[in-house]
Amino acid sequence: MSFNALLVNRSEDKKITSSLETIDESQLPDGDVTVDIDYSTLNYKDGLAITGAAPVIRHYPMVPGIDFAGTVTESSHANWQVGDKVILNGWGVGEVHWGGLAQKARVSGDWLIALPASLDSYQAMAIGTAGYTAMLCVMALQDQGVKPEDGEILVTGANGGVGSFSVAILAAYGYEVVASTGRPEESAYLTELGAAACMDRAELSEPGKPLAKERWAGVIDCVGSHTLANACASTKYGGTVAACGLAQGFDLPATVMPFILRGVTLAGVDSVNAPVAKREAAWDKLATTLKAETFEKVVEKITLSDAIATAGKLLKGEVRGRVVVDVNA
Ligand code: NDP
Repeated sequence: MSFNALLVNRSEDKKITSSLETIDESQLPDGDVTVDIDYSTLNYKDGLAITGAAPVIRHYPMVPGIDFAGTVTESSHANWQVGDKVILNGWGVGEVHWGGLAQKARVSGDWLIALPASLDSYQAMAIGTAGYTAMLCVMALQDQGVKPEDGEILVTGANGGVGSFSVAILAAYGYEVVASTGRPEESAYLTELGAAACMDRAELSEPGKPLAKERWAGVIDCVGSHTLANACASTKYGGTVAACGLAQGFDLPATVMPFILRGVTLAGVDSVNAPVAKREAAWDKLATTLKAETFEKVVEKITLSDAIATAGKLLKGEVRGRVVVDVNA
């Protein structure tokens, strides 16, 4: 049996190429569960992998795609039976192990979680790793005691996947959200998602002072670099900054001042190796917090063959919200 997959290859002169290929099932990697994939998504990391813009992929050829939703077709893992609906996020899939931008995947059953009963595969991937990461960020703020009555929450990279879902989830929980974006023309979209106000990301992206006027009760930062440093510097006494991304840069040109003078907490958020119980908690909350209309506002659906061109646009910041890939279209 053969199936369609996106395949990323590296030539001897280290040139990265991505193409749509037909692959025999016997070439699937080792794993105790085989899944027929319904949908995958395009995340920032997939953009890097497909274009070769950063060394996300550890060995070639690689099927990219850090997440998928589908149905189990073979299993020797105790938790999973044929017909089970499952989701996968992270665990190095699409980086070290063949991933979701394909019609089939073979993975470790330890990496899978059950699709929540109130979601279908499409909705789960409309949420995808971006929505799941956004929920981990919101949980990080809540774990540190940040409450809606504490004041404004800043979301950076707001038009991106994680940013869009962060805005929507925070608004659903009653927080007052300020969305920082480089695309002010998309303010109406962010307001519709639940942002109380938008700000130009240029206000945060240049080198700033060690401490600035206290404004944010909490921050979800998708951007890193000066933006994260400035966000920490303007977080209120006792506030929390959840850092998950590096769209501006992986550097953090900050001082310790916000942490030692204002008791600000910098909470790191990782979705790739998060423990299963935390993943299940995040997905349960996502299934009950978000309305289907929210997915529709946030999602663009593409085919597997569109994914190569869309990956380039994603890295240029030209994609709004989420991209769901119908791998069978
Ligand atoms: P997207 O590409 O969808 O969104 C990134 C957003 O960041 C853009 O839409 C843009 O928002 C903003 N942005 C882009 N370039 C710059 C820049 N130079 N300076 C400031 N802002 C910029 O990516 P995702 O939402 O999928 O991911 C966001 C980040 O989170 C990425 O760095 C990704 O690697 C990371 N991530 C981390 C995870 C984890 O487990 N820690 C999991 C998932 C993602 P706007 O146009 O509104 O300004």
